[in-house]
Amino acid sequence: MSTNIILTGDRPTGNLHIGHYVGSLRKRVELQNSGKYETFIMIADAQGLTDNAETPEKVRENVLNVALDYLAVGLDPKKSTIFIQSQIPELTELTFFYSNLVTVARLQRNPTVKTEIEQKEKFKNGVPVGFFTYPISQAADITAFNATVVPVGEDQLPMIEQTREIVHKFNSIYGETLVMPNAMVPENATEARLPGIDGNAKMGKSLNNAIYLSDDENTIAAKVKTMFTDPNHLRVEDPGNTTDNPVFIYLSVFAKPEHFSKFLPDYKNYAELAAHYERGGLGDVKVKKFLNEVLQETLRPIRERRQMFEKNPEYIMQMLKEGSAAARRVAAKTTDRVKRAMKLNYFE
Ligand code: ATP
Ligand code: MG
Repeated sequence: MSTNIILTGDRPTGNLHIGHYVGSLRKRVELQNSGKYETFIMIADAQGLTDNAETPEKVRENVLNVALDYLAVGLDPKKSTIFIQSQIPELTELTFFYSNLVTVARLQRNPTVKTEIEQKEKFKNGVPVGFFTYPISQAADITAFNATVVPVGEDQLPMIEQTREIVHKFNSIYGETLVMPNAMVPENATEARLPGIDGNAKMGKSLNNAIYLSDDENTIAAKVKTMFTDPNHLRVEDPGNTTDNPVFIYLSVFAKPEHFSKFLPDYKNYAELAAHYERGGLGDVKVKKFLNEVLQETLRPIRERRQMFEKNPEYIMQMLKEGSAAARRVAAKTTDRVKRAMKLNYFE
């Protein structure tokens, strides 16, 4: 198969945030529009349930929210197949077959699964099997669509590595069947893992430390005000740290020269602003005020597009229905191939 195929997605566990935007969404839109890829975008509701089994309504509601966020940033159902994971039963089938190729010890070593288990208070008394094995279902998602490229944030690298191992093992046992995928992570380390407003190493929907693409103007302003900065930068004159400081980290990602000329013309660019903060003599209030302007400018057009699509939820559901039907046809073909390779094609 020579075509370039993209598969990527998000868990409908909340609205999408600026970490998704820089870590994955922005790239997807660019690749989609390049015309060089066939793009599949999955709303991973079944995976969302692996740590939200008691709150199915939360997952259901967020399917629409995530789809709205997609359209708001420029994903386009005419160019990309946008679909819902649970509507493709073949993905469950593949997961079941692949689970024979992965050891319990290998899953226990997966660093992302480890961190996520530690972060979840509700897992203190036990981890659901479905959550523990979600890297296997992710391998099913990726291989079902013969994906060659998976644009993701850095936290997903161990998942792609695990998928590659499954593909390798499957092909060596059953013969060349599955396509080997590659991760595509932003080169800029900050974009690959945007920290939270609380200074946590990762902004996450489930971590209560995010600025959402759908946040209104006042919410953004209020969140920026309470953001973690350098705790040792007590007086304006004190030298400040910009490297572990999410306010500066966000500015390094989002502030463009035109933002400086419009809102903070005393500085030409990020480097000048950061140098002043590090020298001392630049207060947090001023920097936060600028960050707020930058984020408002960046998020306003996305929010406005989102509000436009929000008026027509039937259109969104119809798009997801058609996308799911189209996605299913592709996944069914792969599953046939897999079953044939595994000698499960009795009645052919
Ligand atoms: P949850 O807390 O429910 O796991 P999440 O915020 O981690 O939510 P996911 O749906 O798990 O979001 O991830 C979707 C995609 O966004 C993945 O490719 C992931 O790597 C990327 N991503 C998530 N958070 C960040 C972040 N802070 N910086 C960059 N990319 C991110
Ligand atoms: Mg996640």
